[in-house]
Amino acid sequence: MKLDATDLRYITSDEFRVLTAVEMGSKNHEVVPNSLIAQISGLRHGGINKLMGSLAKRNLIAKVQNTKYEGYRLTYGGYDYLAIRTLSKRESMYSVGNQIGVGKESDIYVVANEEGTQCVLKLHRLGRISFRSIKNNRDYLGKRKSASWMYMSRLAAQKEWAFMKVLHEHGFPVPTPIDQARHCILMELIDAYPLRQIDDHPNPGKLYSTLMDLIVRFARAGLIHGDFNEFNILIRRETGEPVVIDFPQMVSTSHENAEWYFNRDVECIRTFFRRRFRYESVLYPRFKRTLQDNEGDEEGFRLDVMVEASGFSKKDEDKLQKYMESVKGEDGPEEEDEDEDEESEENSDEDEEEEEEEDVEGEEDAQPTPHAEERRPAIIASHAP
Ligand code: ADP
Ligand code: MG
Repeated sequence: MKLDATDLRYITSDEFRVLTAVEMGSKNHEVVPNSLIAQISGLRHGGINKLMGSLAKRNLIAKVQNTKYEGYRLTYGGYDYLAIRTLSKRESMYSVGNQIGVGKESDIYVVANEEGTQCVLKLHRLGRISFRSIKNNRDYLGKRKSASWMYMSRLAAQKEWAFMKVLHEHGFPVPTPIDQARHCILMELIDAYPLRQIDDHPNPGKLYSTLMDLIVRFARAGLIHGDFNEFNILIRRETGEPVVIDFPQMVSTSHENAEWYFNRDVECIRTFFRRRFRYESVLYPRFKRTLQDNEGDEEGFRLDVMVEASGFSKKDEDKLQKYMESVKGEDGPEEEDEDEDEESEENSDEDEEEEEEEDVEGEEDAQPTPHAEERRPAIIASHAP
């Protein structure tokens, strides 16, 4: 979805009041009745129609003709606008540049602050898949069924923010978190390629063990990434070091299906290395042993506990998890592995580099080669004042 930052500078204070009123009304109404918008905004009925019309023209709200009444709903554009306005009021960001990622459930933009320092804005979009298509019950949404896309997107951003902060504070290789508002998070821009785009690597064995060590470090700190794959691991252009992103699905090692999530993360890396680099190792971490070995409490902290203490509550976590499970119902822990096309590459090059894992030093300066056509687009910061 296109993010239009031009409107940021051209909204009147009355328009802003109306927009905020629609957002507030959305908490309990799928379509916010005109009369309620007028009441919340404290503006007179007459003038308000014009204001709503002008907001609708810019796609910040959308008119809906209900069978019972006429009203408006907040659009993604409107929600984006409100979040970005908050971030720019706090001087966290100033201008919007190129979109660098479109996920199923997020949009990623390069943005800049007033000094011109670039960073990444991630907008969560959890309702993009229609809520109507969710089969499971939606009781966990409670009264908020009407605004579930806004609510769930915000929860995802709050969760990602809480995890990114705690991981960053404890020295994990993640982007530096900068700010969070509504469904958005702002973070450091990493000069890197997703592992997915790396065709050749000078030392796959070393990268493999670095990534497995990371899974182990996460687990010893009480966490499982839950989506530890070649899309969510960035490889720094300068140093070749991995940086991990994308945390809305992280789970605690105390989760009832923790072992299943842990194994899936490990398996993602094994499969990718086998297919892409023809690298296979007999060494890979096992869940129970990883936790047992931790008896001496090497890391000395439980990040899952810290996240909870940081304000992202267990209740929010449960709601988000239920939503995510209901959307991704088909690959939950109950089902067996989804791998479809492994056979052909499975056993090739078996003899190669079996023991390489033990950290081979020496090839630091040779950097991985990214796919030429998949290089990140040049960043054009737009919207000078
Ligand atoms: P999604 O939840 O949609 O998968 P991600 O957080 O994984 O979103 O980001 C999607 C893509 O955007 C990544 O694969 C990466 O290419 C890019 N990206 C995300 N965050 C950053 C960052 N901090 N620095 C550089 N690129 C990033
Ligand atoms: Mg991702």
